[in-house]
Amino acid sequence: MDFFIPIRIVLLIVAVIFNLILSFFVLKNNARSATNRIFFVMALIISVWLLANGASIEEKFLDSSHFWIRASFFWAAPMTLLFFILAHTAPKEQFQMSKKLLRFLIAITVFVMFLSISPFAIIDVDLQSGIPKPVTGWGILPFGILAIFFTVSPIVILFSRFKRAVDIEKKQLKIIISGMVIMQGLIISTVFIPSMFYGESSFVSLMPLYTLVFLSFTTYAIIRHGLFDIKVLTSQLLVIVLSLIMLINFFASKSVIGGVFNFFIFISVVSMGGLLVKSVMREVKRREEVAHLAHKLERANLRLKELDEIKTEFMSIASHQLRTPLTVIKGFVSLIQEGAYGKTNEKIKEVLKNIYETNEHLIHLVDDFLNISRIEQGRAKYEFKKMDLTELINGVIVELAIKVSAKNLKIIFGQQGEKIEIVADSEKIRHVIYNFIDNAIKYTEKGVIKIIVDKEDGGHTLRVIDTGIGFDKIDHANFFQKFYRGKNTKRLDAQGVGMGLYVCRKFIEGHGGKIWAKSKGPQKGSEFGFWLKPKPAS
Ligand code: ADP
Repeated sequence: MDFFIPIRIVLLIVAVIFNLILSFFVLKNNARSATNRIFFVMALIISVWLLANGASIEEKFLDSSHFWIRASFFWAAPMTLLFFILAHTAPKEQFQMSKKLLRFLIAITVFVMFLSISPFAIIDVDLQSGIPKPVTGWGILPFGILAIFFTVSPIVILFSRFKRAVDIEKKQLKIIISGMVIMQGLIISTVFIPSMFYGESSFVSLMPLYTLVFLSFTTYAIIRHGLFDIKVLTSQLLVIVLSLIMLINFFASKSVIGGVFNFFIFISVVSMGGLLVKSVMREVKRREEVAHLAHKLERANLRLKELDEIKTEFMSIASHQLRTPLTVIKGFVSLIQEGAYGKTNEKIKEVLKNIYETNEHLIHLVDDFLNISRIEQGRAKYEFKKMDLTELINGVIVELAIKVSAKNLKIIFGQQGEKIEIVADSEKIRHVIYNFIDNAIKYTEKGVIKIIVDKEDGGHTLRVIDTGIGFDKIDHANFFQKFYRGKNTKRLDAQGVGMGLYVCRKFIEGHGGKIWAKSKGPQKGSEFGFWLKPKPAS
């Protein structure tokens, strides 16, 4: 007996088995999806056709070659119809063809199927060349037209859908088209042309491989976004194959002890395998959940960023609209105070002073809003120039003198007479120093506020040290965040919105410097300071 199995038969059997595995895998992946169902039926029919086609060219079946050739034509027609249907639907879950058209196409295909097995299509079989060849009659014509139409048009349909598709669907269609083009290209170049023009048909035995390429590509495209499932399937397959081997082993046992032993191994493999599959499934589910959450988070994050930008934009517009009337109010109040509209009595003077102060407070607030929107929109510009730090500090002290005296505090600035030259954006540094001293006044009930400038690490430090409410260590990390107000302000009736230090930090960082806050604890005073490097980043 000859045990040698020709390579074309091995190829055929392997391809059929793989096609069947793929078809069940795809169906199991999502049995509700129309694409997966079409794929399942298509892969089954392709397998049947492969077997019929393989048998029709097999020497061993020469006697029945007539039957096999007819069978191969019979199954080729629905196979091509399924290419056409798949091209309309894949990779969507809903069926994409009208029921009417489908019924019509099925009717034509069934007609062609039966016509091609009638004596009008295949009249006889030519066995002269060794490989059976059909002798065809007119009845084969409808089959030819149908087959050409159903193999060419799917590519056209897929291409036009590909052009309109977006995201994942576009990628999936690309893979399906690639598989179909490769398969049809190979069939035309190695099977169709050689057999039509040169009478050469040795490549026909490679057909199973070509269909396998197409089915593998399509499988990959269909389950692409659920790739994790491959792990579950692989582990399930492994367990099934192992269990089968163990079961065969058990039945093949030659002794009772061997049988018991093999049965024990079989049971162990089944139960351990079950556990393995379960844990893989759990893992896959967890991963899918994490991936889903990450995706949701990413979307939420994007939305938040969008909202933040809208808010900054709104803040910028609103602040600009507010700034002008506030400046106008300030101008008129000053004019009234200076007597430009006639004399004012003491009572009115007092009211005007209040209006002026409240207005000033509002102007600072609006300026901070404007600063924040500029920083966040990346519009903050720095003009670095040589400047005298002492002059700047003295200016701020004069500006805040009324507030200091109103609270009976004292400001000490040791280096009043010295000239301390630095290169910086004077407007921004003035803003920071103003905020530090203003806060020191706001958060100090009695005592002194010291301002100390030093040379450090080649640059300059400025410290504003007060004897005020101080703070806990945990709190200060947040002081430089946007809209943060310290817990230490709760008991205090101090106005503020928590923007000042955030803007200060941004300005100092814009200079390439550092900013800090220190305190020995609540009610033990605080130190707010910054360090500027000698030549700031331009
Ligand atoms: P605001 O003063 O409007 O609350 P800031 O951004 O200027 O906002 O300050 C943020 C927080 O830092 C304040 O709410 C306060 O808790 C704390 N802080 C600032 N300066 C001092 C200071 N000199 N002493 C104690 N705490 C301070």
